[in-house]
Amino acid sequence: ESKRTPLIAGNWKLNLNHLQSIAFVQKLAWSLQDARLDFRTVDVAVFPPFTDLRSVQSLIAADHFPILFGAQDLSEHDSGAYTGEISGAFLKALDCRFVIVGHSERRAYHHETDAIVGSKAAAAIRHGLVPVICVGETAEDLETRGASAVPVEQLGVALEGLPEGADFVVAYEPVWAIGSGRAATPEQAESVAARLREVIEGAMGPDAAARTRILYGGSVKSDNIASFLREPDVDGALVGGASLVVEEFAKIARFQ
Ligand code: PEP
Repeated sequence: ESKRTPLIAGNWKLNLNHLQSIAFVQKLAWSLQDARLDFRTVDVAVFPPFTDLRSVQSLIAADHFPILFGAQDLSEHDSGAYTGEISGAFLKALDCRFVIVGHSERRAYHHETDAIVGSKAAAAIRHGLVPVICVGETAEDLETRGASAVPVEQLGVALEGLPEGADFVVAYEPVWAIGSGRAATPEQAESVAARLREVIEGAMGPDAAARTRILYGGSVKSDNIASFLREPDVDGALVGGASLVVEEFAKIARFQ
């Protein structure tokens, strides 16, 4: 099995305005270049708020920074009477590579169902974006159904509407580990990631299962990242809090 290129993704959530995003990405790029990070061995991506994307796009293009970027959400619709929504077409026009779908905060605060997350993933693919499909169990799910039942179900629904050969990323983020400082153990992350890879194989075939990156997310820091990346089915991390501190995020990207 050829190992997949690790992806270190920073989800800024509702932090850093467009001016702050410029300063941040500049510092991040300098820091990684200073440390001679070999960008052929790891993909580094940031997920700023929508209003930052134009600034981030311009900066990265102007200075040829090898940093990828994406949005934190998109509409399941392409255009029309959907006040406040942003379409995949608009994100693609801004050179976004990725878009997060189904983050647990969207599921919890914006009532996104598995079906909505699935249609957002399909919308991303339709516009040539790579959806980062987030799944994960709450503390209550963990207690009543174990770790993998809910993520397996969520991913199954999300993959239903994707065309054959679709390029996507999965982020396994136990809700109880997000922002809690209580990360899953590498063994816990591996066990669910391996189950999710089976779900991918069942829905999309063995090539997709071998190719697709599965990230772990939930209280990832520079001092635990390497332990997750050592697991065979964990191909990177989705990082929240620690992605907002340039030097810390740069250290995570340099996990090797
Ligand atoms: C997240 O919300 O995607 C996340 C992983 O957050 P944190 O790293 O802060 O736990």
